[in-house]
Amino acid sequence: MPGCSPGDEDGDCAAVHSGQVDLPRIERAVREILAAVGEDPDREGLLETPARVARMYAELFSGLREDPRKHLQKFFVEKYDELVLIRDISFNSMCEHHMLPFMGKAHVGYLPNGRVLGLSKLARVVEVVSKRPQVQERMTEEIAKLLVEELDPKVVAVIVEATHSCMTIRGIRKPGSVCVTSAMKGVFRSNMSSRQEVMTLIYGDRR
Ligand SMILES: [Zn+2]
Repeated sequence: MPGCSPGDEDGDCAAVHSGQVDLPRIERAVREILAAVGEDPDREGLLETPARVARMYAELFSGLREDPRKHLQKFFVEKYDELVLIRDISFNSMCEHHMLPFMGKAHVGYLPNGRVLGLSKLARVVEVVSKRPQVQERMTEEIAKLLVEELDPKVVAVIVEATHSCMTIRGIRKPGSVCVTSAMKGVFRSNMSSRQEVMTLIYGDRR
């Protein structure tokens, strides 16, 4: 692939090589945008930009060509019936309304029902789901739903905190504002004390 080599300044080209992203089409579109905003796509500084942006999108949207469920197939059977929580899983995603990044942290917890997942797998699921055009609310719900469907846990808690570029650099311009979304499945819905336990585990020592 021209311009896509190991050590490339734009980083991981794995997504590009999966062969399902129409890079030339993105390049044409980026040229169009540049022309439409009044730029000259042929001036020197912009010559490589369409190709660079095309590779970037292939990387940022690599989750479209991956099934997050594959990370939930390998669990081990363990009699552990306390909460498992991975907090501070950092992610970056793209707001599908503005094509601008939103980034933050996901906290994912579940109460196993015999099926316990390798610890890195929850982070992998967050990674795949976030590397798609997204809205934070749906992303939160999707992660919870995947866990419910594949692990059949007693409860699932997903909390996502993120700052949205579309709120900080344009529109209402509120830098520092954090959007928090949560999806709770299972007894959390009715049992406030277990819900509280999750919140304490996530936030307890930093308030
Ligand atoms: Zn947006």
